[in-house]
Amino acid sequence: MGIRTIRVDKDEILRKKSKEVKSFDQKLWTLLEDMKDTMYRAEGVGLAAVQIGILKRIFIVDIGEGPIEFINPEILKTDGEQFGEEGCLSVPNKYGNVRRPDKVKMKAQDRHGNYFEIEGQGFMARAMLHEYDHLEGRLYVDLVEGDLLEVTDNNE
Ligand code: ZN
Repeated sequence: MGIRTIRVDKDEILRKKSKEVKSFDQKLWTLLEDMKDTMYRAEGVGLAAVQIGILKRIFIVDIGEGPIEFINPEILKTDGEQFGEEGCLSVPNKYGNVRRPDKVKMKAQDRHGNYFEIEGQGFMARAMLHEYDHLEGRLYVDLVEGDLLEVTDNNE
């Protein structure tokens, strides 16, 4: 298990643009495994490498259908619109309402450098676009309409 520290809030690295991955080697694979361990431990549905302090164009998404690794992703197409709640492991205990496309088509590389295309809709599209934003140094809080809300634990 390789649990890494998640960078949060005002950590300046979260505002930096991540760089292209050029080596598809054991070092990358270890990073991907550590990202997954870290994401699952934090009960997240997505994690970008920058969130653990690595400025590489990598993110993982798992909305409950198994993990998908995106390396050097590109947005090919977006369509429609959705409006709903969003949160982020790097902005703990907060959430807000964000407008995003309802569908997205991306092209990315897998851990061996092979290209693939994938389409997401609804929550999957939201997760993919949220994680893609991390690679550009953007956070969902920039897009929130209305107030950023506090998560309250109410386990009655
Ligand atoms: Zn996030």
